[in-house]
Amino acid sequence: MKDLKSYIRDVPDFPKPGIVFKDISTLIKEQEAFREACHRMADKFQNTKIDKVVSIEARGFLFGAPIAYLLGTGIVPVRKPKKLPAEKEVIEYDLEYGTDTLEIHKDGIESGERVLIVDDLLATGGTALATCQLVEKVGGKIVGLTFLIELEFLKGREKLKGYEMTSLIIYDKE
Ligand code: AMP
Repeated sequence: MKDLKSYIRDVPDFPKPGIVFKDISTLIKEQEAFREACHRMADKFQNTKIDKVVSIEARGFLFGAPIAYLLGTGIVPVRKPKKLPAEKEVIEYDLEYGTDTLEIHKDGIESGERVLIVDDLLATGGTALATCQLVEKVGGKIVGLTFLIELEFLKGREKLKGYEMTSLIIYDKE
C-alpha cells in the first residue's frame, strides 16, 4: 500500500481563496487506506483506559465511529448548533473572523469518564480546544486527542498544551 499521505488530495482555494483544503474523501474511498488509517489511529490507544470517544461534526464522525468500535467504547457526537435534540452544554469559541458554537448532550458523558477526542484534522486548534472545554464542562476527563492530519505550521499543538495528542499525517508547510 502507498504512503497514507499520498491518498490526501490538496484542493487549493477551497472553501475560500488562500486555503489549501486537505480532502480526505480520496483516502476514505479506498478500503485499504481507510482501514489502515483507522487501525493506526486506534492502536495508539489500545493500552489506555477509555470510556468514550468524542468526535466532532462532520468529518470527525468518519473516524470517531470506527475508532470507538475498535477500542470497544461508546461514541458521543459534538455537533453544530440546533442538531442535538436533548439537554445540552454549549461552547462558543473564537475564529479568525467571528465565533463558532459547538454542543454536546449533557448526559453523553458521566462525571469522571475517560474521553478520547477524535477529529479528521488539526489546523489552528480552536475547534479541538473548544471540544476539550466542552467535554470538561460535562465532567469528562480527557485522556487524549487523535487526528488523521495535523497542519503543524498552524501550531494547533501549542493551543492544546497539557493534553496528550497524536496525529498520523503531518504537514510541516502548506
Ligand atoms: P481548527 O479549529 O483551525 O483546528 O480547524 C479544524 C477544523 O476545520 C477541522 O475539523 C477540519 O475539518 C477543518 N479544517 C481546517 N482547515 C482545514 C484544511 N486546510 N483542510 C481541511 N479541513 C480543514
